[in-house]
Amino acid sequence: MEQRHFDLIAIGGGSGGLSVTERAARYGARCAVIESRRLGGTCVNVGCVPKKIMWYGASLAHALEDARGYGFTVGETGFDWAALKAKRDAYISGINGWYHTYLADSDVTLIQGEARLIDARTVEVDGVRYTADHIVLATGGEPIVPKIPGAEYSITSDGFFELEHLPEQVAVIGSGYIAVELAGLLNALGSEVSLYLRGEHLLRRFDGLLREQLTEGMLDAGISIFPRTRLQAVRRAADGSLDLICEGGRETHGFDTVLWAIGRRPAVDALGLAGIGVIQDDSGHVVTDAYQNTNLSGIYAIGDITGRAELTPVAIAAGRRLADRLFGGQAERRLDYENIPTVVFTHPPIGTVGLTEDEARELHGSSVKIYQTTFTSMYYAMTDHPVKTAMKLITVGAQEKVVGCHIIGPGADEMLQGFAVAIRMGATKHDLDDTVAIHPTSAEELVTLR
Ligand SMILES: Cc1cc2nc3c(=O)[nH]c(=O)nc-3n(C[C@H](O)[C@H](O)[C@H](O)COP(=O)(O)OP(=O)(O)OC[C@H]3O[C@@H](n4cnc5c(N)ncnc54)[C@H](O)[C@@H]3O)c2cc1C
Repeated sequence: MEQRHFDLIAIGGGSGGLSVTERAARYGARCAVIESRRLGGTCVNVGCVPKKIMWYGASLAHALEDARGYGFTVGETGFDWAALKAKRDAYISGINGWYHTYLADSDVTLIQGEARLIDARTVEVDGVRYTADHIVLATGGEPIVPKIPGAEYSITSDGFFELEHLPEQVAVIGSGYIAVELAGLLNALGSEVSLYLRGEHLLRRFDGLLREQLTEGMLDAGISIFPRTRLQAVRRAADGSLDLICEGGRETHGFDTVLWAIGRRPAVDALGLAGIGVIQDDSGHVVTDAYQNTNLSGIYAIGDITGRAELTPVAIAAGRRLADRLFGGQAERRLDYENIPTVVFTHPPIGTVGLTEDEARELHGSSVKIYQTTFTSMYYAMTDHPVKTAMKLITVGAQEKVVGCHIIGPGADEMLQGFAVAIRMGATKHDLDDTVAIHPTSAEELVTLR
């Protein structure tokens, strides 16, 4: 007979849900994952993975331009979006398939369908009820589309991954990391990109140095940036192209694609949270304590649904630690949300961890000391399009403890992880300076800053 009672059920088969069940099952817990769509969730299907493939493609477009500087004869080049998309989709289908095997190998039951909570121990999927001692909410999030006239003509990051052709004229609306990443890679692959933001700055919450360098780099690359712009409507013109109507009556014409990247909301509508009394914040995120507990005993939430550091490794780490706590005898095990490193896959990429300069000054006042550099890496000595690298270390106190590290430049994506370990371990500026540099690299600048 089909099993209907489990030690733990995770709702959502994405980064968080898969991790908590796999780890719990390793401790011998009987676990199930409920997934309404494709296994792997946002990251695998419409997030990190397909995005990174497109970023690699865009990086090759830049490399082809640079190759001439290194003596290569580069003939006429073409780019076949449809071919790349087909290979990317096949790669992702492979990962989806792999997850089915992974769940089976991990002894985790997959229940396919949309879950709704009946009470703190019961979940219903397609009319069938399942019970569990522990229920983990891990349903992630979905892109926000504003309620303005003509919004239905536009797409979001989900739609971006369905595009069959390289758009020619794209309006990207937003200023967060998804907006700048998609704008950057579309630009590199050959689209004409206009980026519209409501406020003044791209990547508002990032350190000012990163914001400035990124904006300069995007403008240099030919992306048009329109700050302080509120869109009121999208209109389809007689020739099929799309017009943007902005506040104040200004209009821009001739887009074939309008892409919203203005943030994400938690995917909670189907869950019936209010019915059983799970507390959510004003934006709908499920409120949890430091141990991922919700206000209801036996119900937990991890990943994007909690609205805290919405990143795949965060969802994974929170899930694994929760399983360690519930089934691994580690009563105090929990995720520390401080000093989470993150990368923005722009061209060039950004790597950042810890406090921004503004945050550090607010917290630590005059004991903050900043070390910073801007340079052009040796790679560009041979090329026509030099790209700047900028780095900033933020230290506090007489010991000059490093509390922030911010890098924009080629290689920043791979550079940051090791520095994040050092910062988490409490590294001081002296520790960095005392580390022998690796030459010739860009990373060596971080251990030789004056
Ligand atoms: C374009 C884009 C790029 C990104 N790039 C990066 C990156 O480079 N690095 C990074 O770390 N993060 C990145 N992210 C963020 C990352 O994808 C998320 O932080 C991560 O997927 C969150 O995991 P999760 O488990 O909370 O939710 P998800 O991975 O979203 O999984 C939730 C799952 O729950 C399912 N579900 C929802 N409701 C129900 C229901 N009622 N019943 C059953 N199933 C349900 C959904 O179908 C989904 O599969 C990116 C996101 C986007 C959109």
